[in-house]
Amino acid sequence: MGPHVKSQSNILENYKVRISGIKTKPELNDQIVTLTHQKSRPGRYSCKLKDGSTKSFPYSSLELINPDQNQTIERRENPAPHGAGIFAKRFISKGALIFKGEYPKDLSLETLRKEWRCSINHSCSPNCISTTKKNDESEYFFAMRDIHPGEEITRAYVASCIWSDKATRLEYLKIKSDFQAEACFCHACVTNEAEEDKLRKDTFNLAEIAFGIVSKRNEVAFEKSWKSVIKPLLMLEDTNPVKTGLGFCFFRGFWFELSQMMKEVKEKEFALADDCFNDLAKEAHDMVLRQLIMLGFVNNSMITDKLVSWWPERFLIDDVSEKVNQQI
Ligand SMILES: [Zn+2]
Repeated sequence: MGPHVKSQSNILENYKVRISGIKTKPELNDQIVTLTHQKSRPGRYSCKLKDGSTKSFPYSSLELINPDQNQTIERRENPAPHGAGIFAKRFISKGALIFKGEYPKDLSLETLRKEWRCSINHSCSPNCISTTKKNDESEYFFAMRDIHPGEEITRAYVASCIWSDKATRLEYLKIKSDFQAEACFCHACVTNEAEEDKLRKDTFNLAEIAFGIVSKRNEVAFEKSWKSVIKPLLMLEDTNPVKTGLGFCFFRGFWFELSQMMKEVKEKEFALADDCFNDLAKEAHDMVLRQLIMLGFVNNSMITDKLVSWWPERFLIDDVSEKVNQQI
């Protein structure tokens, strides 16, 4: 929804502005009277100062501080085509609840600005996912990976964008969400197109092979592919969009089978150091935690019941449920 909630002028009404790009004249920060988007010069703002003069600044030099004093996130205006966005004010660790969002009671700009969830922009490499709870109209947003101060909080408007190539992602966005922009301007879509597409395809293939081996409980294949497939999958960087986005929402049962087989492998020919094994096991567990959040585990009784009946009793349902509920 972010891209549709734009304010091109008078943004001082709701925000304090700091110009971080002024190295020589920081005192100008106290002199700003109005700040307007320069339509004729995309990406630049025009600042009217107390002495009547006007200065032009690139968007990248402006910091708009939301006066709501939220310690974790703030809403900032961005020039078109990005629209408003939500940004981290401090470090947010993977799995943490970032905020509780409300559905707007009306669609006035004022209301939309107040609701964090209305300003979250789409990214094909999102760092956040949300879920609702049963009998609760709020929406809970969780960090899928560590998020650093100043980083934008993003979600995938369409989950399948995470494992698709650039052209397909835009198609999905237009068809499956009310995405109105001409193109996706997320980091993935504006940089390294060929590399990004390959990364997603390769990771997705890796995940599919891993899931195939694990879900069929083919121990011979597992042992053979441990070093070439399973371990590399678990050890992917947290910034890998497919791993982070999981994406593995359809890889149900992954964790239980995988953890069992990992234990067996550990005792056999691939002697793993305990800390290495524990790290990999935790990574697999975290993947499933994110998957459950993505599926709306805590909220949707239909899905929850299905999962409970589907997975072996030994699956760590309570563990996951407790972890998610504690955060909420
Ligand atoms: Zn994108």
